[in-house]
Amino acid sequence: MKKISFVVPVYNEMHNIPLLYEKIVHLMQQFEENWTLLFVNDGSCDDSLNVIKSHANNDNKHIQYINLSRNFGHQAALTAGLNAVKDADAVISMDCDLQDPPEVIAEMIKKWHLGYDIVYARRKTRQDNFFKKYTAIFYYKLLDRFSDVKIPRNVGDFRLIDKKVLKSLSGMEEKSRYLRGMIAWLGYKHTFVDFDRPERIHGETGYSYQKMFKLAMDGVLSFSFLPLRIGLALGIISIALGSLMLSYMFVDALVYDVPYPLFKWLVVVLFIFVGFLFMLMWILGEYIGRIYDETRKRPLYIIDDDNNFK
Ligand code: UDP
Ligand code: MG
Repeated sequence: MKKISFVVPVYNEMHNIPLLYEKIVHLMQQFEENWTLLFVNDGSCDDSLNVIKSHANNDNKHIQYINLSRNFGHQAALTAGLNAVKDADAVISMDCDLQDPPEVIAEMIKKWHLGYDIVYARRKTRQDNFFKKYTAIFYYKLLDRFSDVKIPRNVGDFRLIDKKVLKSLSGMEEKSRYLRGMIAWLGYKHTFVDFDRPERIHGETGYSYQKMFKLAMDGVLSFSFLPLRIGLALGIISIALGSLMLSYMFVDALVYDVPYPLFKWLVVVLFIFVGFLFMLMWILGEYIGRIYDETRKRPLYIIDDDNNFK
């Protein structure tokens, strides 16, 4: 019999855990697969751990948990959970706050049955506050334009992945984890389920602005070398402007005999030199980018299927 594992990071969600459990029990009645629900307690300061433990006692067939030694953050907690999953045929990662509605999961599982390896839940609307909504829109636009792989828009960490995707993912050992980007990077056959994202039921968001900013930076820096190339653009602009000014002054001085003081010549020459410095920084950046690429040891390619190699 096939098995589906749910991986749920938990940070101060004591009121949501029982609700989520109920919903998943109810949901899985319509599927014949076995299932487990793995909670990763990410250093919660409330009673979440005890709530999880009591659920695990009552239903030890389905509930597993990992308790991290402190708060390591959502992506780390999710990684801990994914690494711990054993012999599941599909893994569904979702939040604990019921903002990822279990009703959507039924759709996701059905798409998996149809043969998709990755099923993303995509938000049609967001109920988040003004700031979060617009920074998210702007950020995804930016990421879309500049990242080296196409990272799907409006998807979070609510998704289903097949066991082969999970296996490939475990080969990506980089330390700055931007899981939605990493999974996009892997490729595979994927599809979407659209849903309206409701508001949080209990508790408050565990994503402080600081954590959001860190996640955003991880996304940009791990999936784009564009920031390194800013030096190139600045260098070209600076050299071009400097050269234009220098030629103008040459013509003025030689043809029209305008007397330019030494400092003006120096300023313009300096402009051009600074341009070269920017270019040099860009070249250094390219090397640093390559060093970064080598050190994180991403696999060179991922094989989906093969035949007759035995
Ligand atoms: N979370 C976590 N560690 C953290 C922050 C959040 O494990 O440091 C969990 C949280 O319990 C929830 C999920 O990650 O299950 C998403 O967090 P949250 O709902 O706070 O984020 P938002 O939906 O506001 O983006
Ligand atoms: Mg949430």
